[in-house]
Amino acid sequence: GVVVGRRVRSRRKWGRVLRILKEFEEGCDTPVGRLKQVVDAVAVEMHAGLASEGGSKLRMLLTFVDNLPSGKEKGTYYALDLGGTYFRVMRVQLGGQRSSILAHDVERYPIPEHLLTSSSEDLFDFIASVFKQFVERDENGSERSLGKRRDLGFTFSFPVKQTSVSSGILMKWTKGFVIEDMVGKEVGEYLQEALMKKGLNVRVAALVNDTVGTLALGHYHDADTVAAVIFGTGTNACYLERTDAIIKCQGLLTTSGGMVVNMEWGNFWSSHLPRTTYDVELDADSPNPNDQGFEKMISGMYLGEIVRRVIVRMSLESDIFGAVFSKLSTPFILRTPIMAALHEDNSPDLAEVARVLKDILEVPDAPMKVRKLLVNVCDVVTRRAARLAAAGIVGILKKIGRDGSGGITSGRSSRADTKMRRSVVAVEGGLYTNYSMFRNYLNESVVEILGEEVAQHVTLKVMDDGSGIGAALVAASNPSRDADGVQ
Ligand code: BGC
Ligand code: MG
Repeated sequence: GVVVGRRVRSRRKWGRVLRILKEFEEGCDTPVGRLKQVVDAVAVEMHAGLASEGGSKLRMLLTFVDNLPSGKEKGTYYALDLGGTYFRVMRVQLGGQRSSILAHDVERYPIPEHLLTSSSEDLFDFIASVFKQFVERDENGSERSLGKRRDLGFTFSFPVKQTSVSSGILMKWTKGFVIEDMVGKEVGEYLQEALMKKGLNVRVAALVNDTVGTLALGHYHDADTVAAVIFGTGTNACYLERTDAIIKCQGLLTTSGGMVVNMEWGNFWSSHLPRTTYDVELDADSPNPNDQGFEKMISGMYLGEIVRRVIVRMSLESDIFGAVFSKLSTPFILRTPIMAALHEDNSPDLAEVARVLKDILEVPDAPMKVRKLLVNVCDVVTRRAARLAAAGIVGILKKIGRDGSGGITSGRSSRADTKMRRSVVAVEGGLYTNYSMFRNYLNESVVEILGEEVAQHVTLKVMDDGSGIGAALVAASNPSRDADGVQ
């Protein structure tokens, strides 16, 4: 009687959980046909964003970087890299030949969380203080900074409307930053002023997006590098475009005939994207609703949070996560690195999954099937993210005619693959480098979309610290006009 009844009830609840999982899986479905629609949509939106200002959700921002590093860059440069989670300071010594980085010292600091919603003054004071300590720790540091002025590249990983290679205006914040007084302001000036206040004799010679830094380093090592993508706290891409294709800037002339375009693809949107109610709710609760839609499905800031929302829904419909779920109801408690660790747990009893459930989500003694369920949800979320990211990359290749759609053979050649050029895409960001499931799904999907033959000509190359080192390279290729006068 009673016992049987209870069993039926709990089984019915488990059934509800499985239905939620199934619905979620279906909602996140990314068959290759749909991915190809996303590829096409990316290419179409790229055209639209290049045609007119505001012509697309893809802003397609000019960077004023028209010459990628050639290898001739020489000397010592600093780089400051403000990402989404970390702030990095580095000193790069360039040897004057391709791929000749003689030394590269880097220090990494987590960005104190209160700064995300503080004032521009606090943020730049933090940046300048950390930099000053870095310079002073260097043996000849004081000599360097007080005597000969050094040039610095600033990697600022937010949408900036550039006015030159070293200046630009912050358009909006992303990745949880909300510092209202800075929007619409000149970013390079803020940094330059903060550095001067600390008595540092350095010039902000380059202001670059992290994608642009990564492309610069990629190109420095390998001249076939045509694009760069970031999969970190946020996501974005840039690529080398012909100036005559940038219709919205008629008459734009560069010596190279090209310019790097910062796509700001985090804001890409298309009706072909598989969006679920969890995505809708995550967006509505974010500080930037209706914004960065692609980013919210793909990047490290959000993946763990999507998982958490699915789990909360399951726990509301059943008691499989226990009755109390205080930690589970805390937004962003399931950070993506933790998600990666539990997703990649290969132990027979899923010990790491159990540990995360117990220590972080406060769900002790979760039975095996609940552990497996959590892994399953992580898999759905990461697989979708990685496959959409792959479609984004192929979209760029399509736009620049390197997706093989013109036929692998072209012109008079009749032999397969004699005409298809090698394309390298530089990649940076912890989501790609530290989350092997994400990386594997992404790499596999690129091959699945392009087909094996075409994919042979496409290489994704990780550029460690690319965004920072690349900023130093851009600074080096933008020498100050009065450089000789400063000793
Ligand atoms: C920003 C981009 C940046 C990307 C990766 C996004 O949120 O809008 O400018 O490149 O994150 O850091
Ligand atoms: Mg970064």
